[in-house]
Amino acid sequence: MRAFVIDGPGRAGVREVPAPVAGPGQVVVDVERVGLCGTDVEFFTGEMAYLHQGHAAYPLRPGHEWCGTVSATGEGVDGRWLGRRVTGDTMLGCGRCRRCRGGRHHVCGDRREIGIRGGWPGALAEQVAVPAGALVALPDAVGPAAGALVEPGGNALRAVEAARLEPGSRLLVWGPGTIGLLAAMFAAARGAEVHVVGQDPGSLALARDLGADGAWTAGDLPEQPYDAVIDATNDPGVPRRALEAVEPGRRVVYIGLAGRASPVDTRDLVLKDVTAVGILGGSAGLRGSVELYASGQVDPGPLVAATVGLDQVAGVLAGGRPAGAGRGPKVQVDPRG
Ligand SMILES: [Zn+2]
Ligand SMILES: [Zn+2]
Repeated sequence: MRAFVIDGPGRAGVREVPAPVAGPGQVVVDVERVGLCGTDVEFFTGEMAYLHQGHAAYPLRPGHEWCGTVSATGEGVDGRWLGRRVTGDTMLGCGRCRRCRGGRHHVCGDRREIGIRGGWPGALAEQVAVPAGALVALPDAVGPAAGALVEPGGNALRAVEAARLEPGSRLLVWGPGTIGLLAAMFAAARGAEVHVVGQDPGSLALARDLGADGAWTAGDLPEQPYDAVIDATNDPGVPRRALEAVEPGRRVVYIGLAGRASPVDTRDLVLKDVTAVGILGGSAGLRGSVELYASGQVDPGPLVAATVGLDQVAGVLAGGRPAGAGRGPKVQVDPRG
């Protein structure tokens, strides 16, 4: 089968590789759609932290935001999965340790992450193998584009839940990328007043069109009480600014990752009585995100700028914009197209 392989920093392409076989407890999925994200770009540039910590190594096969149809089941897997449209959890815990047994498999020390960590091949390929326990069924109402946005949706939904919004709460989302805009839409669907901070005028206009009550550059952000601030940027200066912006006694949620340390003065945290929460991965938010898409409360379709073939992935990861791309932040791939 065809798969996208990164051989080293700046070196990647489509290769012919052996098709996966469903091992015990696993299924094989025919991949319908895959999203490209900042993690994939960092693997392509060589900046991704896991490369330097020994959790990932070249050559690697990325792709962790995917959906498709189960085409084979391994030993011990319920045969009813066969033919079902699915997406799945990126985070594959060992299943045995204290964290896994306590519902925290997404931070298991021995975890693998599909297309990211521990050498588990990703979904930028015609097929991907997935443990059946990680599958999430997709209803027909969730099409290919939305299905491949369930994983980022899970991340964004966890961030919004960590913000503990109530109807009428005022939320500030820093960063109008895919996670930031999804968080803004989920929060608006819950009745929050949502403001978005960004730099690019096109992204800010999109945020407004998707339902944000305000979209601002950092320089013109109105001074008003924000009941929660979500940092969905990769800017090392934003974690401190988020803490400055939040109302005392409220919550700051950190889901963005910068390429270097992002200093925060804990005196600001203490003296404002602020709760700070870090979010890694979408695991506990996947099913909620499917429900919000399926019910039509949130339509993630406008986030997708273009859908390309495997041959174009290297160009996109290198920073290229596909011809005719819309203004959304997400480029998706049809690996069988
Ligand atoms: Zn991603
Ligand atoms: Zn574990």
